[in-house]
Amino acid sequence: MQGSSMEQILPVPSPVSSYWLSQPHKFSNLRSSTELPTECEIGIIGSGMAGITTAYHLFKQENPPTSVVILEARELCSGATARNGGHSKIKLSTLASQVQKLGADRVDELQNFVQGVIASLKQVAEDEELDCELEIRRSFDVQLDDEDAASLKDIYQASRKAGHTWTNNVDFALPQYLEQVTSIKGAKAAESVPCCSLWPYKFVTQLLERLVSRHPEQLNVQTTTPVTAVSVLADGTNAITTPRGVLKAKKLVFATNAYTAGLLPQFKDVIIPVRGMASHIVPKVPVHPHLSHTYNITFSSGQSADYLNPRPDGSIVVGGGGSMFKSDRPSWFDNFDDSTRFSGEVEKYWDNYMQRVFLGWENSEAVVEKVWTGIMGSTPDGWAHMGRVPGRHSQWVLAGFNGGGMALIPTGAKAVAKMVAEDSDFVDVKREFGIPEIFATSTERLREAFAETR
Ligand SMILES: Cc1cc2nc3c(=O)[nH]c(=O)nc-3n(C[C@H](O)[C@H](O)[C@H](O)COP(=O)(O)OP(=O)(O)OC[C@H]3O[C@@H](n4cnc5c(N)ncnc54)[C@H](O)[C@@H]3O)c2cc1C
Repeated sequence: MQGSSMEQILPVPSPVSSYWLSQPHKFSNLRSSTELPTECEIGIIGSGMAGITTAYHLFKQENPPTSVVILEARELCSGATARNGGHSKIKLSTLASQVQKLGADRVDELQNFVQGVIASLKQVAEDEELDCELEIRRSFDVQLDDEDAASLKDIYQASRKAGHTWTNNVDFALPQYLEQVTSIKGAKAAESVPCCSLWPYKFVTQLLERLVSRHPEQLNVQTTTPVTAVSVLADGTNAITTPRGVLKAKKLVFATNAYTAGLLPQFKDVIIPVRGMASHIVPKVPVHPHLSHTYNITFSSGQSADYLNPRPDGSIVVGGGGSMFKSDRPSWFDNFDDSTRFSGEVEKYWDNYMQRVFLGWENSEAVVEKVWTGIMGSTPDGWAHMGRVPGRHSQWVLAGFNGGGMALIPTGAKAVAKMVAEDSDFVDVKREFGIPEIFATSTERLREAFAETR
């Protein structure tokens, strides 16, 4: 199911399940009213991390909205947020590559923003008493390739010498103890950065539960209600078309990530759906000591990294495996079909993964308990789009998070909520929220992305 051959990019019915979806929330099929409301002050399309945290921050505004309707095509939070690696961090290799592209000052800003997001996840989970296994941890980036490791260290050292703050909380593991410290066989280098690990589906669905009980009159949630078109009426209101009728919203937020171009054609080739794969691995024989870091593991130069998140119960969520399917482009690029899995040949990658890669797991008898797919919103320049939709006065967007939305969305949503409440733009709030300019959506970025993909 590829975008190019489809009339519309819409979440497909019956997505495969994931480890994170194994304990469905009681609101997974919530419809606050039998009929779709006909009008509201603010409409939000999408019930993942972006949609629900935007709603959360809208109700925290000085003048909270009188009516918010959240529209979700499938079950509550059934998109990428329920299918990911469950950790919030920014990889050292991403930071280092951006030192060369954007300059070290901008990278300081970016790292600062991501650290603020981690703090915000913790704060919201505590304030709202969300039972979502949130832990503040560190995360290793491990390279099994000398070349990658050497260039990372050079960039880091130059920035360190120049006093750049992005380096402050980065730690290079001692070269003589790499395997001992990381437990990864054949590690050539390892750096750790702060991160947060969580069960994103539980974070989002429980946060929504709090909102529903706090704002029963103001918040209406409509699951299994795909939006098929949006148009702006003469008075500036948005007409949101669904198979269940039309909802009119004075203001509208697109929290539609990979599917954004399905409703906003100007985002075609700007936010591209790409399919990823992840798995859940369970040891039959408990392994001690417990792996306490999360990981990104790069096996060879130029290859995408695997991401690995040990769960508190000793099992492992690990995703990636790009080397197995990247050459079969239609199977992942411009592909939004999460109702099917990759082939058995591709999925073999996870068999004995822990025994193969990690010291101490050889006798764990670890088995693959679940494999799933999920759809990311990829952007040619690698940055998400936040702000007022170019050329549309009453619409805002928070989408295009590539493989890293957990490290960006919570503060992005806070900023978008403020823009919506105050009828303002990215530029008006960026300083308050410390959001790097790279995330501002704009006509220029749309044009550049479009040109780049031609
Ligand atoms: C396999 C995989 C691994 C990942 N690993 C990580 C990780 O470890 N760390 C990290 O930070 N990020 C990771 N990501 C990325 C992260 O999951 C996303 O960036 C994040 O979840 C995006 O949140 P969202 O709310 O924007 O999108 P989603 O969670 O996808 O939510 C968008 C929602 O909008 C709904 N929707 C879309 N179009 C319509 C429509 N027309 N009508 C009604 N509803 C609609 C969808 O059904 C969906 O529920 C991973 C993603 C995948 C797929």
